[in-house]
Amino acid sequence: MPILKDVFMSLSQNQLLNSAAKKYGLKMGAQSVVAGTNVAETIKSIKELNALGISATVDNLGEFVFEKEEAITAKNNIIEVIEGIHENGVDAHISLKATQLGLDIDYDFCYQNLKEIVAAASKYDMHINIDMEDYGHLQPSFDLMDELLKEYSNVGTVIQAYFYRATDDIEKYKNLRLRIVKGAYKEPVEYAYQTKEEIDANYIKLIEYHLLNGKFTSIATHDHNVINHVKQFVEENQIPREKYEFQMLYGFRKDMQVDLAKQGYNFCTYVPFGDDWYGYFMRRLAERPQNLNLVVKQVFTKRTNTAIGLAAGIFALGRLSAKTKKNK
Ligand SMILES: Cc1cc2nc3c(=O)[nH]c(=O)nc-3n(C[C@H](O)[C@H](O)[C@H](O)COP(=O)(O)OP(=O)(O)OC[C@H]3O[C@@H](n4cnc5c(N)ncnc54)[C@H](O)[C@@H]3O)c2cc1C
Repeated sequence: MPILKDVFMSLSQNQLLNSAAKKYGLKMGAQSVVAGTNVAETIKSIKELNALGISATVDNLGEFVFEKEEAITAKNNIIEVIEGIHENGVDAHISLKATQLGLDIDYDFCYQNLKEIVAAASKYDMHINIDMEDYGHLQPSFDLMDELLKEYSNVGTVIQAYFYRATDDIEKYKNLRLRIVKGAYKEPVEYAYQTKEEIDANYIKLIEYHLLNGKFTSIATHDHNVINHVKQFVEENQIPREKYEFQMLYGFRKDMQVDLAKQGYNFCTYVPFGDDWYGYFMRRLAERPQNLNLVVKQVFTKRTNTAIGLAAGIFALGRLSAKTKKNK
């Protein structure tokens, strides 16, 4: 399984396949975990979630942004979603990534794009979550948030439990609304815990700390063991329900999402949309290769998927055999 994880992680970073995927639209099973390709489809999905008592955090998918034009398009799309959420009166806020808004192009340019988004959302008292990416973008993303917090209060971010520094970061940002996750990227041992046991232990420690000391905690996980632990912890420590929520990704453990909302917990679904779905989808496969069943089914039942499916498959097999040889 670890080899498969590595293969999907490197597939997620393949720009050629990423461009092909954009051209071909939602394929390979991605439509079950991506809410739509445009704002109208996304608002429709949010309305369906709201009807189940679930709020949404909306992410306009985008990776490998190295041209200013692409970053500006992303900014405009996000502002369009903010207006759409407001006009339709749906219960939703925004998640975004600094690289999509130009962090790899120019820090100040990225800051200006972010600032326009945060300003547009603050008119409606709407929260903006800065998602966290790989280690190389971690400190710059915190710096951008620090700048924004000088002027706006509707901003928060993510703490990734696999990083050793997460304990210091959560202490520093305890007065913010924070999403706490295990961490989705492959990180070296210099910065990050590597084993599931270590990551899970740190994850629980950080959640408990923020529930007791922090402003608002979004517990973002599909792990039922963590969710059950949190349910017991909040009960024992009398943490009011307004202080936390559970979050899961769109299309994952749908029954559990609905059940938690029915049990009266605040629940928020992460709703990704757009045509730039490829990297997001590959990271989800890296986390849970069982999701590969979805891909296989789609690739072999729909002929139009074959081009991307085949290319991804050949690339994956190449990587896999190279790794297996090396491991031997
Ligand atoms: C809303 C949300 C936002 C996120 N934002 C970020 C971010 O900004 N930055 C970042 O680095 N990462 C982010 N992540 C990803 C996160 O870091 C993890 O990589 C991802 O959630 C996988 O870890 P897990 O806690 O869900 O459980 P895992 O450790 O993957 O799984 C634990 C156990 O839970 C069960 N399980 C898990 N998934 C399923 C399933 N689909 N069906 C049935 N059982 C299952 C299995 O028993 C599994 O062994 C986000 C995740 C969520 C849910």
